[in-house]
Amino acid sequence: MSDMSFLQALAVTKTYPGQRVAGVKRISLNIKPNKITAIIGESGSGKSTLLRLLYGLLSPDEGRVQFKGERIWGPEEKLIPGHDAMRMVTQDTDGLNVYAKVWDNIAVLMPNTDIAAKEERTTQVLQQLNVLKLADKQAIFLSGGEKQRVAIARALVTQPEVLLLDEPFNQVDTSFREGLQQDIRQVVHDTGLTVIMVSHDPAEVLSMADELIVLKDGEVIEAGHPKELYQNPQNLYTAKLLTNCNVLSQDEARQCGINTKAADVVIYPEWATPTNSWTRKDWTVKQVLFKGSYEDLLVTKDDITLRLLNDEPDKYKAGDKVHVKINRYLEF
Ligand code: ADP
Ligand code: MG
Repeated sequence: MSDMSFLQALAVTKTYPGQRVAGVKRISLNIKPNKITAIIGESGSGKSTLLRLLYGLLSPDEGRVQFKGERIWGPEEKLIPGHDAMRMVTQDTDGLNVYAKVWDNIAVLMPNTDIAAKEERTTQVLQQLNVLKLADKQAIFLSGGEKQRVAIARALVTQPEVLLLDEPFNQVDTSFREGLQQDIRQVVHDTGLTVIMVSHDPAEVLSMADELIVLKDGEVIEAGHPKELYQNPQNLYTAKLLTNCNVLSQDEARQCGINTKAADVVIYPEWATPTNSWTRKDWTVKQVLFKGSYEDLLVTKDDITLRLLNDEPDKYKAGDKVHVKINRYLEF
């Protein structure tokens, strides 16, 4: 037993009874401390089940979960489910007393034995989550994003070592989301907190995570650094989770000039460029989707449609003939 291990899953299996086998199968993981690990996978792939197993809200059928070398107790063995060094935040901001002030919602979780320490810590965590200015507001008057910040402050006030997040940003506006993601990264950096988050938003996991774990049908199919998984996914499933990519059949790929033996060929929108300077312009611009600083172009040839990233907005309009240069593709 290595003393380097922090939070580990050792061949953990949990199946739910039912017609279809569901749950997670023989998952082994080594969660690194002081990092953000993101678990991604399509709906029903076992993300929440895995998170609950790591926290001790569920007991595995087989295998075990260990925190610093010690087995985590399941709900049958522990009076208050969940490991004491961990806290979990989900979409429903449960536990929040909406009629109490933000301050009291957080301070109430601290012991009364040292009032000065209680005040200091409450202030500190409100600052970390950027909600100190809301301290005197009743929770009922908070926006969704503010409520989520307060829920995370509540989880962090007692200084857990691990924060588990189960898609907590779903109801938060995109503009608020980024700020909250940055603040959580900052807390991890400043305090040594370990975060394990479940998400299905590629932008979120790619920008936040230090480590990525990909779940499919209850199994880990690949794991690694987000940039590495994005650039070189070993599975079509992973590429589809992380990007809005073009997936071509072998026939379609050949029609695009890619000589391949693979069943599926994947082209990321940024891997193909439109140009109108070539003589052979065999693609037609079908739609231009304005994205602010860039555009997505939908171009077609025969029955094939490709989504391309165009960083020269306004250069093309629907109906234009273009040449498409494919710079890179993946084969599966
Ligand atoms: P995810 O969070 O990735 O959407 P879950 O871990 O919630 O996936 O669920 C994984 C699979 O297990 C799904 O098929 C789901 O329907 C099933 N499942 C989850 N919880 C239960 C339960 N308490 N009883 C029976 N089946 C469940
Ligand atoms: Mg879930």
